[in-house]
Amino acid sequence: MPYHNVFTAPAAGFEKEVIMSTVLIEKRAPMSHGRTDLRKRKPKLLAVINENCTGCAGTPVCVEYCPVEACMFWVPDEEHPPFGRIEVDKTLCIGCAKCTSKGPDGTFLDGCPWDAIDMVPTEEWERRHGVRLPDTPDRPPAEWRVVPAEYV
Ligand code: SF4
Ligand code: SF4
Repeated sequence: MPYHNVFTAPAAGFEKEVIMSTVLIEKRAPMSHGRTDLRKRKPKLLAVINENCTGCAGTPVCVEYCPVEACMFWVPDEEHPPFGRIEVDKTLCIGCAKCTSKGPDGTFLDGCPWDAIDMVPTEEWERRHGVRLPDTPDRPPAEWRVVPAEYV
């Protein structure tokens, strides 16, 4: 889907002569709130939002269960306000699956009631997107309000 509310900014470490630019997505509320120190290594699984996401009519259930600061965030549907959906910053996700409705052996956790979140092997997601994710967040928490588009 096309993303709105994006802007470009120089990538970290750019040289004067060669200015690289990257598209950043500005995260909107509702957004997850939690700890900033949980991702110590790259998780084996990542939460991936699928086409079933309805945005829960603006009050997403899943976001409340995510223990990581700014990991889950709102992406407004500019063409159909006030609708939107939730997305996941793949550099912050720890793969805990607290946001999903599918727990071990199919047990129900209190996350997404619409089966709109898949736990996908990280390597598979990286291969599919041609992106190598950092093991730990590659920017300080003060910069977590935006995310490079390639990490969503
Ligand atoms: S798997 Fe865990 S860290 Fe990742 S989005 Fe879901 S609740 Fe947040
Ligand atoms: S992922 Fe599920 S719980 Fe979260 S906003 Fe979408 S439908 Fe609602």
